[in-house]
Amino acid sequence: MEYEPVIGLEVHVQLLTRSKMFCSCRAEYQSADPNSLVCPVCLGMPGTLPVVNRRAVGHAIVTGLALDCDIATYTKFDRKNYLYPDLMKGYQISQYDAPVATGGRLEVDVGSGDRAYTRSVGVVRVHLEEDVAKLQHFRDTEDRSGQYSLVDVNRGGVPLMEIVSEPDLRSAEEARLYLTGLRSILRYLEVSTGNMEDGSFRCDANVSVRPRGSREYMSRVEVKNMNSFRAVHDALEYEIARQARVVGEGGTVVQETRGWVEERRATVSQRSKEYAHDYRYFPEPDIPPLVIEPAWVEELRRSLPELPEKRRGRFVKQYGLPAYDAALLTGARATADYFEECMSLGGSSAGPARAKTIANWVLVELAHLLGREGVGIQESRVTPAHMADLARLVESDAISGTLAKRVLEESFDTGELPSVVVRERGYLQISDSTAVESAVEEAVGAHPQAVADYVKGKETAARFIVGQVMKLTGGRAKPALVNDLVKRKLEMVRVANGS
Ligand SMILES: [Zn+2]
Repeated sequence: MEYEPVIGLEVHVQLLTRSKMFCSCRAEYQSADPNSLVCPVCLGMPGTLPVVNRRAVGHAIVTGLALDCDIATYTKFDRKNYLYPDLMKGYQISQYDAPVATGGRLEVDVGSGDRAYTRSVGVVRVHLEEDVAKLQHFRDTEDRSGQYSLVDVNRGGVPLMEIVSEPDLRSAEEARLYLTGLRSILRYLEVSTGNMEDGSFRCDANVSVRPRGSREYMSRVEVKNMNSFRAVHDALEYEIARQARVVGEGGTVVQETRGWVEERRATVSQRSKEYAHDYRYFPEPDIPPLVIEPAWVEELRRSLPELPEKRRGRFVKQYGLPAYDAALLTGARATADYFEECMSLGGSSAGPARAKTIANWVLVELAHLLGREGVGIQESRVTPAHMADLARLVESDAISGTLAKRVLEESFDTGELPSVVVRERGYLQISDSTAVESAVEEAVGAHPQAVADYVKGKETAARFIVGQVMKLTGGRAKPALVNDLVKRKLEMVRVANGS
């Protein structure tokens, strides 16, 4: 029997705010000394009172709007009770039955060409809560006295937003694409860094399998501990295969929580799954219900940026870019902004050919250089003005496309404008035929064997001579001219040899 996976995702996102969710401690904790960003509220001292962070609520609202959710006018916070050393109060302030946003949707484009389709994924809810403290376990020694755990409360109380999807995803690949699409939106909205490596963007998955064509929902397994998009994909593939095997052998899948263990490339059982009633949710008595004014929601709606999907479509239409390039460029807002600035500096000559050239430089050459230095595109010494300058040099035939890559690299290293690099290094293209002709003569004279091969009918020998001419001119000769002159010269030799 064939099985179909049913996948729903829960994503936890740390929000970009100056202060924590319920106190005024600084929320940016990544580089702070342990327990330096704490106060009686986030330490969970008795008698303290939480105060809701307005910006965090705003972030949840814009996220809800971007995901086509309904925004609640009445929302409240609840206590989720459980005991664990990373939870200072013994409960987490979260939202249970009245989240900020509900009933949204995210369209995910899957595959390419004939196999392309769109998966519409429902968004159940977007709600706010607080992050927990960080535990560090030391278990190096055999001796129990050397085993201990430390707790750093800096992360405790950092604003966290949870986005829960409907179980609408049908493959590990769809799940991966949903996550990258969601992250891209969050980054556009500037509500989160969306970095998975530092834990700002975390994902848990609910997975079950059922006979293909069935509408039933089987008992599901929650998979945790996936720290990269790759890990999410691999863990889901593993879990889908495992469950299909269990069911195929006549067994039943146990409802439980499993963790992905990267080294073993497997999920392992952690504990039986909790149910909502295990948490004894009840309304947070220290925070009054939150009424969200429709006027505020409208104000936030008007401030929404153009989102990645829409911008991608516009890039195809407006700049004549291939869909693939448009998707890569619009994946991050900064990259898309950078590209558009390059294009706006192009003046009337900014047609599809330039768009494609700039797209290639941004996505390939510049991306490579930025990766090498480990800097973002905003910090690039090659600014959009540099790119437009470089495009003009290539379009006016002042330098070849090949040389342009070298010029780009030198501009990147020095911060100089490409036209300055070209002038100072003497990179101007040689399109004067007399100069190229003498290089052709020299190359032909120095390689009699290649010339003889050509005369005997080996056409590829011409390419070798072309290469030699390019070498002699330091890569500066205009390629079309070199091709032309080499062909002409070799044909003359061939005729002179009477063949
Ligand atoms: Zn605090």
